[in-house]
Amino acid sequence: MNKIALITGATSGIGKACAESFANLGIRLILCGRRLDRLEELKEALSGQVDVMTLAFDVRDRQAVNDAIGTIPDNWQDIDILLNNAGNAHGLSPIQDGDVDDWDAMMDGNVKGLLYVSKAIIPFMIANKKGHIVNISSIAGKETYPNGNVYCASKAAVEALSAGMRLDLNPFGIKVTNVAPGAVETEFSLVRFKGDQNRSESVYKGFKPLSAADVAECITFAVTRPAHVVVADMVLFPIAQASTMVLKRD
Ligand code: NDP
Repeated sequence: MNKIALITGATSGIGKACAESFANLGIRLILCGRRLDRLEELKEALSGQVDVMTLAFDVRDRQAVNDAIGTIPDNWQDIDILLNNAGNAHGLSPIQDGDVDDWDAMMDGNVKGLLYVSKAIIPFMIANKKGHIVNISSIAGKETYPNGNVYCASKAAVEALSAGMRLDLNPFGIKVTNVAPGAVETEFSLVRFKGDQNRSESVYKGFKPLSAADVAECITFAVTRPAHVVVADMVLFPIAQASTMVLKRD
């Protein structure tokens, strides 16, 4: 497939699995994340299949985003797919006990970071009168759960931005897909609980969560539809999950 995809958060989890899935289709990849070593490792692994370039930057740093995207050479600028995936939860506590640094990390990364990257890439898509933006939201963006307050707010913002992008980019033939997964086993909980392995593992105990590859398979479906078809909104659950609050464990 003669396409180029820019993936944020490609060093781990859903972003990495999408990179692998897109590579299988021959989609050229611009892999982004903060951990350059992991980006280079993935580039090495996929380079036999497709051309890959890497950009290491923190999506929260507006200047760094613009500088990095500004280095994309001419022959890589026809970006067909922007996968806005970078993001994390930080902490899980009642609003009255929330850590303000965690709040900043979530609002700056999940919301403002997604905006900075989109702002830098959308002009390429408008110039080409085509493109596909895939925003990774969460079921947390549709249903707030106890102690999820700011993470849920950041993902509710992603939901609103997906809708807003679809409206505003409609004249330019740019597709927007919003993806809202439930529980996916990645490094997500390890980051949320600041490296606490036991707490992280307990999140996925007693049921089979989605894998990053399961989510990547659905995203790959969305980005391979015919030109006139838009998968606008996808909610993905493991079979054990019925909502943010209802999860059947053994
Ligand atoms: P991971 O922790 O495995 O991956 C998160 C990715 O985001 C990493 O590649 C990380 O790269 C990147 N990232 C995080 N913060 C920044 C930053 N400030 N700048 C640049 N890159 C950043 O988690 P997932 O794969 O699960 O998460 C991917 C997306 O899916 C997130 O938006 C998350 O909110 C969402 N999601 C996850 C669910 C789950 O249950 N796992 C459920 C629903 C949604 P690096 O650290 O190298 O910068």
